[in-house]
Amino acid sequence: MDNWFTVETLDPQTFAISEYRHWEETHSYLLCGTHRAVLIDTGLGISDIRGLVGELTKLPVEVLTTHAHWDHIGGHGQFSQIAVHPAEQDWISGQFPLTLEMVQKNLMDPACEFPKGFDPARYEIYRAGASRLFQDGDCIALGGRSVQVLHTPGHSPGHCCFYEPERGYLYTGDLVYSGCLDAFYPTTDPILFWESIQRVQKLETKRVLPGHHTLQIPVLMIGHIEHAFAELFERGELCKGNGMYQFEGFAIHI
Ligand SMILES: [Zn+2]
Ligand SMILES: [Zn+2]
Repeated sequence: MDNWFTVETLDPQTFAISEYRHWEETHSYLLCGTHRAVLIDTGLGISDIRGLVGELTKLPVEVLTTHAHWDHIGGHGQFSQIAVHPAEQDWISGQFPLTLEMVQKNLMDPACEFPKGFDPARYEIYRAGASRLFQDGDCIALGGRSVQVLHTPGHSPGHCCFYEPERGYLYTGDLVYSGCLDAFYPTTDPILFWESIQRVQKLETKRVLPGHHTLQIPVLMIGHIEHAFAELFERGELCKGNGMYQFEGFAIHI
């Protein structure tokens, strides 16, 4: 292996797989049950995440997609079982709204040291579609543990968080992380983003497991983000095109 990934063991059956050498600092998560495993997102597609997952578990693995932005589906092509929300079925099947040139620019700027054998010029966006669609409220049984699907649109139309009630783990994708929360793209919706935050705020969460940046997220940050959206709404400023708002520990770009 090329040491591209950093693996953190969250508990003996749960692993965070992180790409800290790239500015996106993307996280994917491997959840192992007794009969099967799921991989939440597959990261940037720069190194062999399938090989790494194969070292961590021998169980059959299905990929669950938080959303079909390029930085979360980069390694999807290395797996055969791919699940996504229906609202992003098209994106994952070749109709992703960014061009390959734009994605390659994001991949390389600012620069980082790529592993040997990776050629950015040959990078491709995953477009082979999904083997399964999941819906809000679905419960995915892994044997001894189960994962709930929460449709949390706003950052993207089919964005989903995944929640494990027994462990209190909330996998938040790009809905909650410490950094700049993006709701300014044409396909984003700041009001839906706010409503999705309100929804996950009601859960009994013990640990927030984000899609980017630090893994040390206080659960209270969900409430702080909700307050920030509420404040922008009350001031009449929760409108796309208004720019970047800085708060303590995060920013909101609308
Ligand atoms: Zn995203
Ligand atoms: Zn992202």
